[in-house]
Amino acid sequence: EAKKATRGSVQNAPAATGDDVEARVLLGSAMRKAVQKSEFRLFYQPQICMESGTIYGVEALARWYHPAMGLIQPSQFIPVAEQTGQIEIIDRWSMEEACRQMAEWDRAGMRLPTVSVNVSAVSIRNTDLPRRIAALLKRYRLEPRRLTVEITESAMMQQSRDTGATLSAMLAIGIGLALDDFGTGFSSLSRLTHLPLTEIKIDRSFVTSLERDVGSMIVTEAAITIGKRLGVKVVTEGVEEIAQVRKLRQLGCDVVQGYLISKPLPSAEIPNWLQSRDGTITESDE
Ligand code: C2E
Ligand code: MG
Ligand code: MG
Ligand code: MG
Repeated sequence: EAKKATRGSVQNAPAATGDDVEARVLLGSAMRKAVQKSEFRLFYQPQICMESGTIYGVEALARWYHPAMGLIQPSQFIPVAEQTGQIEIIDRWSMEEACRQMAEWDRAGMRLPTVSVNVSAVSIRNTDLPRRIAALLKRYRLEPRRLTVEITESAMMQQSRDTGATLSAMLAIGIGLALDDFGTGFSSLSRLTHLPLTEIKIDRSFVTSLERDVGSMIVTEAAITIGKRLGVKVVTEGVEEIAQVRKLRQLGCDVVQGYLISKPLPSAEIPNWLQSRDGTITESDE
């Protein structure tokens, strides 16, 4: 029921590039109201350290519970939000909600090492971002290194002088900076070595074809080598099979994230998930 409705009204809206301006404007203003009405939720996907099998952190991923259309996935609303400028509202909300949630877990005696939050290219153009993040960390009494900001490779490559300064200012606060969807944004490799990064996330498309496609293997291997040489963590996302974990371990990947370990979960399910995991993740999965 809800799925059908979503297909009709939302999925078609972003797909209709250019001509369907009206639909995009409507959806854009709907998003602002949706944030005010608390229709957005964050799901959290666990990330696991390869070596120890312990939790590395969680990635916060936005979901929209529309009263009429039901659950709307980010692939359906993030691109529209980016086109209509509403993304800053969503990113701002995600950042605060993730910090609030981490502090709540802390108080409940369940201390997660890190939370990663996705931030779009539009939002990093706002030079106010580092100051706002610093204020949030202070308000929720979180050590800066427990927050990682994820920025896609394509967004990083669009960077101007302003965003370069913003990235450096974020790093100066002491938070982590992850290069998301690595391998899809055609990075200039020389530029990559000058970015203020703490983490590289290899895009899901490479792990999916790791065994079938030599090119994917080459990119994955290269990304891990670059990460090691730069002294940053290498995370592989979209891991669905144990054979992929074995291969990634051989290649020296630091952290894995994917459906094999867990799908993104509502915040309420994270404590149980952590308890039931109880220790070595990759071993018990093998
Ligand atoms: P991403 O940051 O690259 O997040 C990883 C995506 O891969 C998530 O999709 C996650 O659910 C999915 N995924 C993880 N493991 C697996 C797996 O094993 N198999 C498969 N098939 N998929 C897996 P999701 O949650 O739909 O989010 C899509 C994208 O939307 C994210 O990609 C991110 O770029 C964006 N996004 C989500 N929340 C926010 C937000 O608050 N702000 C911004 N700017 N972007 C967001
Ligand atoms: Mg991400
Ligand atoms: Mg990604
Ligand atoms: Mg992505």
